[in-house]
Amino acid sequence: MAGSIRHIGKGEPKDTSARLKRLVQSGIFRDKDTHHKLIDCQGDFETWTNAPAKDWINARVKELREEREINIGCECCHSRDPQFLKDEQEGKHSLSGVNEDCYGDEIVELIKLLAAEE
Ligand SMILES: [Zn+2]
Repeated sequence: MAGSIRHIGKGEPKDTSARLKRLVQSGIFRDKDTHHKLIDCQGDFETWTNAPAKDWINARVKELREEREINIGCECCHSRDPQFLKDEQEGKHSLSGVNEDCYGDEIVELIKLLAAEE
């Protein structure tokens, strides 16, 4: 069985068998938020100079390689569920529950990419 990783919003329950890892604790973002990356966590991962943030990413890569199930939670979106995103785009929510510029998906893709390298 392969590991899995997906991005969830703060208002979404985590998958029962998954570990929830919160982006706000990753050391990648400014303030107590997930809207703005720190300057030393931008561009290609190889060029990041923030050691704690790199360690956090590498720890998730290791977990994924160990075939664990991981949920990556952001603080800027209520939900990242596909149906919720679709309803949001169609204006069916009275409150905005999605940050269009959320970094969650990008960070999940980065972890997947690194885990796939030999
Ligand atoms: Zn978000």
